[in-house]
Amino acid sequence: MEIRKLNFKKNSVRALGDKTLQQALHYTTERFTSARERAKREFGELDNLREKAREIKRRTIENLDDYLEILEENVCKAGGKVYWAEDAKGAVDTVLDIARKNRVKLVVKSKSMATEEIELNRAIEGEGIDVVETDLGEYIIQLANERPSHIIAPAIHKTKDEIARLFSEKLKIPYYKEPELLVGAIRERLRATFLRADMGVTGVNFAVAETGTIIIVENEGNARFVTTVPRVHVAIMGIEKVIPSFKDAAVFLSILARSATGQKMSSYVSFITGPRRNGEIDGPEQFHLIIMDNGRTRVLGSEETRETLYCIRCGACLNACPVYRKAGGHSYGWVYSGPIGAILTPQLIGMDRALELPFASTLCGACREVCPVKINIPKILIGLRRRAVENGFHKNVKEHLAMRIWRFVVSHTGVYDILTSLLYVLQHPFKSDGKLRSLPLFSQWTRYRDLPVLKIPFRKRWKRLTVNRGPRG
Ligand code: SF4
Repeated sequence: MEIRKLNFKKNSVRALGDKTLQQALHYTTERFTSARERAKREFGELDNLREKAREIKRRTIENLDDYLEILEENVCKAGGKVYWAEDAKGAVDTVLDIARKNRVKLVVKSKSMATEEIELNRAIEGEGIDVVETDLGEYIIQLANERPSHIIAPAIHKTKDEIARLFSEKLKIPYYKEPELLVGAIRERLRATFLRADMGVTGVNFAVAETGTIIIVENEGNARFVTTVPRVHVAIMGIEKVIPSFKDAAVFLSILARSATGQKMSSYVSFITGPRRNGEIDGPEQFHLIIMDNGRTRVLGSEETRETLYCIRCGACLNACPVYRKAGGHSYGWVYSGPIGAILTPQLIGMDRALELPFASTLCGACREVCPVKINIPKILIGLRRRAVENGFHKNVKEHLAMRIWRFVVSHTGVYDILTSLLYVLQHPFKSDGKLRSLPLFSQWTRYRDLPVLKIPFRKRWKRLTVNRGPRG
């Protein structure tokens, strides 16, 4: 699969100029952030559980091979089939093979970042098989032929009006202003689609090794339809989704929804152990689980960045990140966005293609503060930046020169004094309301941010103070 070089800077400049997008981003990230804050206030256990969750992830990732083998054994015992996919092609080929063998004509899907990662829809359509996303957000972006812009809310970049126009243009349904009418019309269409589908494809939130159970968390009930109505169910998971036991699942289920949307629990939590058994009235005839690497063992192999694999895809770090909140998900250029995208993408698709992402951060630490498994994202970002420089990917001549000049200036007191005094005088034409505006060479910077005016240099002020007070003692 060809992945073009991502272009964060160019994309984010475009996003900053898009007023509608800025409003949509502000509204949604604020809503999620305050909901999480409220959940944290009401549920005093959150911080304790975050610690526990981190420890479970640490233990599991350190013994990943063992837990994956136990998972495989128990899925097979429950009547399911397990496949190992080394890369995206392996995973896609396995899905297509299952579809061909079962003469599948229509696939329904529930939201899954793993299937976005391998561009499964495109491959299924290439086989002449219809595929329909059934999560409302994913349905919208499938119609718009776009990528998700948020891990849990894929269409947050679209306004109500844009969605209503999209539906009426692509589905030939009336233009509804009221979201309830719009959702009602889509629900009717999707119900009919579910009933015709031969195969359901889902992701996996957690896979419990001790029982071979996969857990799917959602709010719309569509994943439950996807996993019960069609005769074949294919679930695709990254190797990091395995957890040892049901006791551990309880910890993650307590923190996932609270971190993601501020809910105590997601509306639907499905536990699926193998296909339909004798005597059961619903469920698929076949259950297939694809366990995918696709670059994850490279992450596992690095002690410095391994904890990237602890991620449970809650999206809290996106909502808290000042860069994501302005740049939006599409600026990151691939499937994963925000702070987790900035550390995961370069490790999965290569630093040469995602070079800008580790640098797309202020290192403020807000992501680490909210992460339910306490991933030290800022530390990983710095490590990746170091790797980029050491491997010769990051050669910013201007930045390098500026840093050398800065080092020279701050290590020579006389030069520092002269320069700060000079800048103090030179800044006057650009001063306005205590801020510097339209600075030559920095116009891009000052267009979006406030740069405070330089005050009288500290050394000068100190000198004046000591002269006015006279000698001590
Ligand atoms: S890095 Fe942490 S906060 Fe971000 S999506 Fe993953 S689990 Fe959630």
